[in-house]
Amino acid sequence: MSSIEGLPDRRWSLRGNTVDGDEAWLIRSIAQKLYHCPGCHHGIDIGTEHVVLQYIRRIGGTEHHHWHRRCAEELLYPDLRKLQRVPTTESTRDRLEARGRKPAGKRRRR
Ligand SMILES: [Zn+2]
Repeated sequence: MSSIEGLPDRRWSLRGNTVDGDEAWLIRSIAQKLYHCPGCHHGIDIGTEHVVLQYIRRIGGTEHHHWHRRCAEELLYPDLRKLQRVPTTESTRDRLEARGRKPAGKRRRR
């Protein structure tokens, strides 16, 4: 786990799998508006560094949520499998949405 400590940051995102077989990408972001963290149900203030959780469903489709970093580390990371860091160039919104347009079996491997 030590290699992912303090991540995601500007250079690295994280990628793991949920128990349901969906991909979970964790990307550093700065809040452009007020978000509500699903972990603690408190607000994430505008301008605050936080973590975007982007699911890419096994059957296709994407869904994202905004989390406090600490809530993500405490509540999300322990349930993710094969959590590993990936360059942020791999986790741009365009790339992830394109990835979500195909079911898992038809995705190109990196
Ligand atoms: Zn929170």
